[in-house]
Amino acid sequence: MNYMTGAVCVKCGHEQEAMPDTTTCGCCGGILDIRYDHKKIREALSPEQLKSRREQSMWRYMEFLPVEPETVAKMNRLRVGCSPLYNVPRLAERLGVKTLYVKDDGINPSASLKDRASAMAVMKAAEAGKKVIACSSTGNAASSLAGNAAAAGFETYIFVPERAPKGKVAQLMIFGAHVISVKGNYEDTFRLSADAIERYGWYNRNAAINPFLMEGKKTVSLEIAEQLDFKMPDYIAVSVGDGCTIAGVWKGLKDLYEAGFVDRLPKLISVQSTGCCPINRAVAEGRPLEPMEENTIADSIAVGVPRNPDKAMNAIRESKGICVNVSDEEILEAMKLLGSYGIFGEPAGVTGTAGIKKAVEEGLIASDSTVVSIVTGNGLKDTANAVRAAGEPLSLSPDIDEFIRWMKGA
Ligand SMILES: *Cc1c(COP(=O)(O)O)cnc(C)c1O
Ligand SMILES: [Zn+2]
Repeated sequence: MNYMTGAVCVKCGHEQEAMPDTTTCGCCGGILDIRYDHKKIREALSPEQLKSRREQSMWRYMEFLPVEPETVAKMNRLRVGCSPLYNVPRLAERLGVKTLYVKDDGINPSASLKDRASAMAVMKAAEAGKKVIACSSTGNAASSLAGNAAAAGFETYIFVPERAPKGKVAQLMIFGAHVISVKGNYEDTFRLSADAIERYGWYNRNAAINPFLMEGKKTVSLEIAEQLDFKMPDYIAVSVGDGCTIAGVWKGLKDLYEAGFVDRLPKLISVQSTGCCPINRAVAEGRPLEPMEENTIADSIAVGVPRNPDKAMNAIRESKGICVNVSDEEILEAMKLLGSYGIFGEPAGVTGTAGIKKAVEEGLIASDSTVVSIVTGNGLKDTANAVRAAGEPLSLSPDIDEFIRWMKGA
């Protein structure tokens, strides 16, 4: 059994049963939010019980998740989640906050936080009796789906915009996905995938359409809470594209709060690129979302027409959070900065950290704050931009004298 009570539309409030293949609201087509009986969750699980649990993956939070334990138990799966939360005091000092934790989600099997959503998609596809899953993505949703589906023995059809970085497409090919590189932007890619999914009846892993994906993503918050002994930080910073990740982070925190695992909630720091910040602009200016161009090197958050703006904007507002936009230069700088503490993120992966730096500089967060930065994807995903951030190495002839001269700073 599980503790789901149903799905509620975030637009019209209509309640419906949450079936494994449920997508959007049956009334208005709005995005659904999965609900639980938090009292029952708390009766079934305590923070103390959680500590002694041996499962070292996102599935250790089974009571908070919308799946049957049997589904997970019988599936061949990758180890997703339980990523490290590093306390980085020297970086905290450098950024000007009291305490900084970095949650490195780039260590997931396909090297991004998206593995949490894709692992959930594979479970729900199994419960829906489907063995073909499809999605459109700028890269990480796709590679994580391809990897997690491959582990389960499921087939995948993946639609990517032609500008997706080579490393990410290579991952898809290696995982054996059917890859369709679409001559167009993310919006065109998304539309083609939606048409194909409808035509062929595949399981739909498009975030925002599928309400269960956020339930996978929220496990990052459950982990942060457990790793901090259920003492909440003041802020959690995360990069925002479609808005599903930040909404998932918030959903996890709220479920914990409602089940009595934590007694206060952090504020969210929503970080976008100055070249593509439709969600932050709408929140900051208090007006409806308008599409923007996709001008940023952070391809994972280059989303001009976000698919989940309502949930993301609600999350930022409800948490009394702040919105920060950072330039590509600031993103590259943050990549080097995190790298100098041993953490390697892709551009969108380090955007949250860039946002913390900027928020401190602009006086938006106090210097005695405790902040968690989620690194959402690994730097090896996009080596071209890593080289842009760090430059090329020294080049010498194989001559020790030449090397000695260089060491002397000649
Ligand atoms: C997808 C992604 C994000 C943003 O998540 P959204 O749900 O699109 O807001 C951030 N960083 C990385 C590395 C991602 O892959
Ligand atoms: Zn509705």
